[in-house]
Amino acid sequence: MKIIIDAGHGPETKGKRSPDGRLREFHFNGAVAKEVKKQLTALGHTIIFSHQQNQDVPLQERTALANRLRVDLFVSIHANAFGTGFNAANGIETFTYTAASGESKRLSSFIHQALLLATGRKNRGQKQADFAVLRDTRMPAVLVECGFMTNQAELALLKTDDYQKRCARAIAFGIDCFSRN
Ligand SMILES: [Zn+2]
Repeated sequence: MKIIIDAGHGPETKGKRSPDGRLREFHFNGAVAKEVKKQLTALGHTIIFSHQQNQDVPLQERTALANRLRVDLFVSIHANAFGTGFNAANGIETFTYTAASGESKRLSSFIHQALLLATGRKNRGQKQADFAVLRDTRMPAVLVECGFMTNQAELALLKTDDYQKRCARAIAFGIDCFSRN
């Protein structure tokens, strides 16, 4: 399949960092995206990034690229935040659009279950939201939140190469399973 992997935000996006300022969300998103690409390319898929390493690409450009290239799937990778200081909110959640297709929901299920298994983190459920990248894409689209930068324990995990790879392999596995079923 031809798939867009979208690392949310950009290196300089305001606010998108941990309360201690030591993790930019894009650093996590980008590292995971890179490993997802490696895994899926090895499985024969074609991967296109909608983000860039050195600037924040507007959401409209990201979805326009997906629609123009007529990719089969769009998967956006994020780390979560609740409020601005450290707190107890934790776990993994996966989003589809409020009027998501059955295929989007099926893709969401594969990725969500794989992420829960691979990380052992709390299941916050599969949710629906009116996010631009989900609303404005014309193919199955999912947005994953791999843990909270505002939770001390999860922030420590999000910073590690091991957790980034664990998430990436789970996301790639979920996408590949979806493509074969
Ligand atoms: Zn984000």
